[in-house]
Amino acid sequence: MGSNGRRVGVLALQGDFEAHARALAARGVSAVEVRDPDDLDGVRGLVLPGGESTTMLTLMEGSGLRERVSELVRGGLPVLATCAGLILLAREVRHPAQASLGLLDAVVDRNAYGRQIDSAVVALEVCEPGELGADRLEGVFIRAPRVREVGGDVRVLARYGDDPVLVRQGSLLAATFHPELSPGSPVIDLFARTVGRRE
Ligand code: GLN
Repeated sequence: MGSNGRRVGVLALQGDFEAHARALAARGVSAVEVRDPDDLDGVRGLVLPGGESTTMLTLMEGSGLRERVSELVRGGLPVLATCAGLILLAREVRHPAQASLGLLDAVVDRNAYGRQIDSAVVALEVCEPGELGADRLEGVFIRAPRVREVGGDVRVLARYGDDPVLVRQGSLLAATFHPELSPGSPVIDLFARTVGRRE
């Protein structure tokens, strides 16, 4: 284990990585900003933040970061992906079509809510309160992707209307909204518990 042992990596190429680092710090979890593959040495979890997925994907190409992230995720590293981070992981990205890491068995449409919840804070329906550790959840949506299909191994923890907005697939936890912007969010609590348990 490298010098980043017991820390969580936060992809810091672009987007709201600082809000994630603050949210983790509030739970006693320290974050390391990830810009190069070496920054991932020894991390016990990884956050893929919101921002602009096209830009993030471009910045991950060429440095080896894309391959290293894929390898770690396939190896079972706990991941929290929010908004653009979820888009990066999805099996298929549409509206417009875009390459992705293909690690989360989901089909997503980008920017698909239009003005309906372009930038809004809404109450979500918690489908798995036992798993989430809470029965109430708010969602901060900012030009959010819409999950159109999920595979059989994907559990839906929360919905907005008919749409899955918080899903879990093995060690991946992915939200179309921004839990790092909701003080005391049970989503960040859940991720902090997950990384806390892994030695
Ligand atoms: N609309 C952005 C994208 O498609 C995601 C928005 C966000 O992360 N808040 O990448």
